[in-house]
Amino acid sequence: MVLSKTVSQSDVSISSTFGSRYVRASLPRFKMGENSIPKEAAYQIINDELMLDGNPRLNLASFVTTWMEPECDKLIMASVNKNYVDMDEYPVTTELQNRCVNMIAHLFNAPLGEVETAVGVGTVGSSEAIMLAGLAFKRKWQNKMKALGKPFDKPNIVTGANVQVCWEKFARYFEVELKEVKLRDGYYVMDPEKAVEMVDENTICVAAILGSTLNGEFEDVKRVNDLLVKKNKETGWDTPIHVDAASGGFIAPFLYPELEWDFRLPLVKSINVSGHKYGLVYAGIGWVIWRNKEDLPDELIFHINYLGADQPTFTLNFSKGSSQIIAQYYQLIRLGREGYTNIMENCQENANILKEGLEKTGRFNIVSKDHGVPLVAFSLKDNSYHNEFEVSDLLRRFGWIVPAYTMPPDAQHITVLRVVIREDFSRTLAERLVSDIVKVLHELDSLPGKVAEKLTTEENVELGKIVKKTAEEVQRDITIAWRKFVADRKKTMGVC
Ligand SMILES: *Cc1c(COP(=O)(O)O)cnc(C)c1O
Repeated sequence: MVLSKTVSQSDVSISSTFGSRYVRASLPRFKMGENSIPKEAAYQIINDELMLDGNPRLNLASFVTTWMEPECDKLIMASVNKNYVDMDEYPVTTELQNRCVNMIAHLFNAPLGEVETAVGVGTVGSSEAIMLAGLAFKRKWQNKMKALGKPFDKPNIVTGANVQVCWEKFARYFEVELKEVKLRDGYYVMDPEKAVEMVDENTICVAAILGSTLNGEFEDVKRVNDLLVKKNKETGWDTPIHVDAASGGFIAPFLYPELEWDFRLPLVKSINVSGHKYGLVYAGIGWVIWRNKEDLPDELIFHINYLGADQPTFTLNFSKGSSQIIAQYYQLIRLGREGYTNIMENCQENANILKEGLEKTGRFNIVSKDHGVPLVAFSLKDNSYHNEFEVSDLLRRFGWIVPAYTMPPDAQHITVLRVVIREDFSRTLAERLVSDIVKVLHELDSLPGKVAEKLTTEENVELGKIVKKTAEEVQRDITIAWRKFVADRKKTMGVC
């Protein structure tokens, strides 16, 4: 019967999505399905699978913005169908990007005259910004070496071993050697002395980081500048500096305006910053600013005659969305210096609350600095029984996403946990996190975990004396510890 056939196909516009066959069938994963499915079903199924992603607001691993004002959300949605590259068709959007470039260049103290426009470009993030800055350095250096009749096939960049992975990407994709200054115990950023020592004639730039990804610490850009000025004078080279201010570029101007890290230092030729980190915009926007026109070789700029106008562009891709650029402009005019300063001060204070709470437990060493990006990096004073990865794992149960990772060479024996304090992480959440970390510590104390490993070595240090245990005794201890753990868990879970 025709009628019953229609019904059995359960069109979701008649029956509910959950009454339809679409939630019963498994979805295509590798090959596109032959037939369409109703939009309600597609929405519901995808929405529901996404529920298993973490909650972005509780993702304390990321610097990237997870909250914006509803008014800005509206602007974003209204421009989601605008291709940024159609500059002739969307001249206002292009104008807004240029305004952002100028504002950020002034924020970084670019030496610009009253009516002079800044040199810079909006990118997908700091990674693209760094690729562009790196390419400009490489090309400038090549041109210089060619003119001198010297080999130009072995360019290098000097950085700390704490560089973000995008520098390694740049190095591999664009064939530049990364010369990394190794870290050491208790010192997790690039040592300026060692860095400048490593500079040679093939160094296209020294890359300093304002806000190390690992512990938020600012590298001493001024010291690098001063040492390099001296070295350049002695050698006759003109090795420049790039500052990777992905996370710190929107912190330092507001919290530490006196700190000289930017274009106030003569050798700083370009700076990148992530608009989607403390620039307070959702993922998908970064900026690179050059000191002067001369620092961006003209041959890298493409003049495309596209849809009727000459458009100078310097990006790695062509089409992209406009929303993030519009959102960046919203934040800059909506917040102003006052707003950014208030937000950054709040972040710093909430980082302090968290830090103090962690110190109070007596169980952690704080690896981040008070001066830097508002984050708290910490490691266990004693990780011989339970380590930082276990803390991270157990925190997941409360919904918190706190990453644990090991430091790069030569500090790879250090493991840290890191909490990035973003705008939307309030004091209440900071206090809640501390109390959940305390719970996790108690739970770990009752867990055999690595204790079992220790016990099975047959030597157990108890109150200073060594006690030998038989295999049976060890087994019994483990069983008792696990039973207690499970019983305790049931108790707490009942309460929740
Ligand atoms: C986040 C970060 C990057 C990469 O930035 P994206 O905007 O994510 O591409 C580069 N360097 C540092 C220091 C960072 O913190």
